[in-house]
Amino acid sequence: MNQKLQRLQSLLKDVTNLNNASALLGWDQQTYMPPGGAAARAEQLATLEKLAHQLFTTDEIGQLLADLADAGFEYDSDEAALVRVARREYDLARKLPPALVEEMSRTFSLAQQIWQKARAEKDFSQFQDILAKIVDLNIQAAEAYGYDDNIYDALLNQFEPGMKTAEVDAVFNQLKAELVPLVQAISAKKETVDDSPLRQNFDEQAQWDFGLIPLRAIGFDFERGRQDKSAHPFTTSFSVNDVRVTTRVYKDQFATAIFGTLHEGGHALYEQGSAAELDGTMLAGGTSLGVHESQSRLWENVVGRSRAFWQFYYPRLQEFFPAQLGQVSLDDFYRAINRVEPSFIRVEADEVTYNLHIFLRFELEQELLTGRLAVADLPAAWNAKMQSYLGVTPPDDSQGVLQDIHWSGGMMGYFPTYTLGNVMSLQFYNRALADIPDLPEQFARGEFGALLGWFREHIHRHGRKYTATELIRRTTGDDGIKAGPYLAYIRQKYSDIYGLGE
Ligand code: ZN
Repeated sequence: MNQKLQRLQSLLKDVTNLNNASALLGWDQQTYMPPGGAAARAEQLATLEKLAHQLFTTDEIGQLLADLADAGFEYDSDEAALVRVARREYDLARKLPPALVEEMSRTFSLAQQIWQKARAEKDFSQFQDILAKIVDLNIQAAEAYGYDDNIYDALLNQFEPGMKTAEVDAVFNQLKAELVPLVQAISAKKETVDDSPLRQNFDEQAQWDFGLIPLRAIGFDFERGRQDKSAHPFTTSFSVNDVRVTTRVYKDQFATAIFGTLHEGGHALYEQGSAAELDGTMLAGGTSLGVHESQSRLWENVVGRSRAFWQFYYPRLQEFFPAQLGQVSLDDFYRAINRVEPSFIRVEADEVTYNLHIFLRFELEQELLTGRLAVADLPAAWNAKMQSYLGVTPPDDSQGVLQDIHWSGGMMGYFPTYTLGNVMSLQFYNRALADIPDLPEQFARGEFGALLGWFREHIHRHGRKYTATELIRRTTGDDGIKAGPYLAYIRQKYSDIYGLGE
């Protein structure tokens, strides 16, 4: 058995190394590559990905996984986890017929260009035919993956392993019942909070310099990572010891850089926190998109938009920007960074309205995949849901149905993981707070080591060994994802800020 395990580990190591090399090329593409490099880079990436796929999907690996499945490793051991995770990935990679994979890859790369043009010209009709094909390809993929009763399960499983659509439905329905009326109540009192202080001119270099201070303080290790700029912020890693984050800086939108930095910093702390012995294996990194997002949202929102955090950092921020913020009180600043306003664009949405953008996409994807909604009717359905959830109607398709890149990249089943991350962040945080009751007081002193230590111990070090549901069970004792803690957090924070119920 030991020989078989070693053989599997050695074969998977090559796959992991190729994937990490691809990630490095991808990072470079979005940060420093000159535009002229695009065509050659696409070829290089295609070759590396083809090699990785070939090396991973061999019959030999299939046989080793089958032999090792009942080798008697302890469930919690790295060996058993490696076999579980590799089996899951292997099935995803092997279950799709090669002809379908090729068709998907060709369609999705074509769709990106069509989508960009359609969005620039605010014209959904240009994107309609290829989107219909993308929906059809996703249906074919789901059929190939297999599922029990809900086709959406097969697609969700790619991003949130093991999570069922019915669980997501239950959580989302509970959130919706409370968040929709809450947004309405806040909208009725919108003059309570003024965010104009955030929309003055802030020197870009000074914003960058300031952002590095909390990034370092929350625990991002610059010996094992770096930050650069990119058009769309992201986090990627090539090793536990080499994790890259990016941010973007706008002169007249103070919130973008600092909260983007904290968000990606949260993703990076997770990546830097895998146990050293998992480095270079399939078990390093985040276990699912939802758990990853729970880490980024935690540091961005629960910590980074808290009053305690700014009790410490606001006087320092005022020293960076005395002309802009010297006369703005901490309380006014705290309210400004937490302003709630229904808007068209998901990525710019505040903490409360953000989830409503996700419900809409989750519902529309299911309607498309089950044939209840025709692609031609999608823009109208989108706008109707925007009106019913957020009370606003996009003026054109670029600010509506065409705004996100996901569908043009072929990804369906991805969106719910954003809200799942929000919800999980509070399940985890409440447990941490029960263990370390003075966390807010620590934040107010600029100390984050105890919170990071808690996450290292309970979540990060495990890498991909456990699914989201297993991590929730192990840390909180809850039998799965629960909306209650997140709703309680939102209710309390925003009732306070907006003086609701007064
Ligand atoms: Zn994120």
